[in-house]
Amino acid sequence: MTDLKLDSFDLKHSFVGIDQSKIKIDDTTLRDGEQTAGVVFSNHEKIRIAQLLDQVGVAQIEAGIPAMGGDEKAVIKEIASLGLRASVLGWNRAVIRDIQHSIDCGVDAVAISIATSDIHIEHKLKKDRQWVIGSVIEGVKFAKEHGLYVSVNAEDGSRADFNFMVEFGLAAKEAGADRIRFCDTIGVLDPFQTFRIIKDFREAVGLEIEMHTHNDFGMATANALAGIKAGATWVNTTVNGLGERAGNAALEEVVMAMKYLGHIELGFRTEMFRELSEYVARASARTIPIWKAIVGTNVFAHESGIHADGIIKNPLTYEVFSPEEVGLTRQLVIGKHSGSASIVAKFKEFGIELDQESSQKILAEVRKVSVELKRSLFEKELVYIYQDYLRRHGKEIDPSCG
Ligand code: MN
Repeated sequence: MTDLKLDSFDLKHSFVGIDQSKIKIDDTTLRDGEQTAGVVFSNHEKIRIAQLLDQVGVAQIEAGIPAMGGDEKAVIKEIASLGLRASVLGWNRAVIRDIQHSIDCGVDAVAISIATSDIHIEHKLKKDRQWVIGSVIEGVKFAKEHGLYVSVNAEDGSRADFNFMVEFGLAAKEAGADRIRFCDTIGVLDPFQTFRIIKDFREAVGLEIEMHTHNDFGMATANALAGIKAGATWVNTTVNGLGERAGNAALEEVVMAMKYLGHIELGFRTEMFRELSEYVARASARTIPIWKAIVGTNVFAHESGIHADGIIKNPLTYEVFSPEEVGLTRQLVIGKHSGSASIVAKFKEFGIELDQESSQKILAEVRKVSVELKRSLFEKELVYIYQDYLRRHGKEIDPSCG
């Protein structure tokens, strides 16, 4: 067996100079995730998700929007009182009475959010830039007077005028904000633009930066990583990438990409990822696509002859990490694209040793049946094919099989 190691791809220097102990995840499955059109979590589901997020290793849980009142406020209060290891954050508009609702819930942190792009300021808020700055200063000062940790959210920051973003960031910092959330609210950045903007923004403002990225062009995880590479220290994620429109940066993708592409170990219990994904999928009534990066059921399924042969010889030929690391299992799928090595390995699992000739004959039959059915085959069907093969060749059927 060849001794293949990921280091041989020389990716380990890609995030050089980044202090991994400073990189943190704050997860917003319970806020931006639930904001997804058509998704509603029940209160007991919100509590369970908060507990799972805490166990898996997120530093901060964005629990919801206290100003909504009713059930939402009650459950945020309950999450804040669970005694979780993670910080619990309430999301607010830059409005004093909203922040007061967060204080009522007993959270230790708040997001104070306001639009920063001209299109939002003029067409949505119908205000001007100075009003935005004034509102954020007032909100931050109020929250800090109440001892809260404050993340100022620059909504639609990716479409805002850069000089205004700097002015906004400096005002937030001056008022006492602990970090600024850079929001690519409608997901229009690419990783190269993200890197440049975040690097300049970090240098100009000197405040900790949090990445909030959306997946409208499939860039959410890549943009979050680009932000980290440029000096951001927080990433706002959701489980399964659940979120408005095309969703947000997925927690499981960001953590695993950081580990294997960036060599930044965040200390997560990644073996819980599939379980967490399944729970959120059920609670949100959004199934996990089987090809979903990191946690999809097909991520460790191999059918094609060349790939399966490689996997049988050494899993690192076609897998970057082991399925157990994210709570999945490896599957050797038998179907149209299988090769004889897979057939031999699969029957070995059943305790049947096939010789060269029988494996070739069975493979031919497997391909034929698979094309007819337009899918891969179940184990039971493989056994039937084997039994038919034995019958045709006048051999005894092993009673243990079938
Ligand atoms: Mn968002």
